[in-house]
Amino acid sequence: TSSQKLDDEIENVRVVVRSRPMDTNEESIGALSAIQVDKINRAITVIKPNATANEPPKTYYFDNVFDGGSNQLDLYVDTARPIVDKVLEGYNGTILAYGQTGTGKTYTMSGNPDSPQTKGIIPNAFAHIFGHIAKAQENQKFLVRVSYMEIYNEEVRDLLGKDVSKSLEVKERPDIGVFVKDLSGYVVHNADDLENIMRLGNKNRAVGATKMNQESSRSHAIFSITVESSELVEGGMQHVRMGKLQLVDLAGSERQSKTQASGQRLKEATKINLSLSVLGNVISALVDGKSTHIPYRNSKLTRLLQDSLGGNSKTVMCATISPADCNYMETISTLRYASRAK
Ligand code: ADP
Ligand code: MG
Repeated sequence: TSSQKLDDEIENVRVVVRSRPMDTNEESIGALSAIQVDKINRAITVIKPNATANEPPKTYYFDNVFDGGSNQLDLYVDTARPIVDKVLEGYNGTILAYGQTGTGKTYTMSGNPDSPQTKGIIPNAFAHIFGHIAKAQENQKFLVRVSYMEIYNEEVRDLLGKDVSKSLEVKERPDIGVFVKDLSGYVVHNADDLENIMRLGNKNRAVGATKMNQESSRSHAIFSITVESSELVEGGMQHVRMGKLQLVDLAGSERQSKTQASGQRLKEATKINLSLSVLGNVISALVDGKSTHIPYRNSKLTRLLQDSLGGNSKTVMCATISPADCNYMETISTLRYASRAK
């Protein structure tokens, strides 16, 4: 069908940008909008507050752009749906949210699960996957497994385990590749179960952070869904396929000079900046296509995502920004990062 043809043609790496609406805080300090979202040309123009004549507006181009009026479903259809379709066919895929804290990464990935209009990519992917399974032929069986972890300060923790403060080991085996030892995995039978698991993990992320006196904005959260299908084909043969979807809510990208971090906080910040810059290097090496060396091994995050970035995998990065002029510097830095990834 033509829609299948379109799916086959999606690029391996796409980068989109989403601006959230101005928030009440920004409104209350009288912030003005510093950005223009050009949906026709898929571009964002940023205007520096009080710019002088030799500081013209800067324009950045992407695979798609979303303004503050965009809704969750539009975003899902454009960015996530083609990837989830691929995962159902047995490919791997990764969806990442990148941006300054407070610009909508968690809103984009998880959303507010209590209302259908505000559900994010993760719950919409659940509905999509189980909708597909419900329509499957009788000779096709599915198994859906999930895990949910976070990386904080280069340490991996299980968001669905008994003890969220326990640091887990990252291992590698020739047959299965990179994996996290003792990470819990759950078999899930419907979208509601999956949504409850997501909420539990999100709660553990917040509770764990408080307990350990850490800021959850400094952790990367990785929700993994593995979809295995076996199809009985002619001659009694089983045709088995396995696709993995990685849904990643990255640590805040803000530079630390602003918060004047020192000591332990500064050490953490350095590690976050390192893993985000390694991720940027990996993605730009993949987009470039000519690099013979992809630096996956330089951070836990990229090591763990290795089999879902590059090769036949599909990746989309959604960079989130604030429209307000008070966030001008961070917005420019996010757009630079995102356009470099392209
Ligand atoms: P982050 O995870 O990047 O720190 P959040 O997702 O927590 O940011 O978003 C910060 C606040 O802005 C939340 O209250 C969220 O509901 C709101 N918000 C973010 N993006 C949008 C959007 N596109 N539309 C409406 N509200 C949004
Ligand atoms: Mg968040």
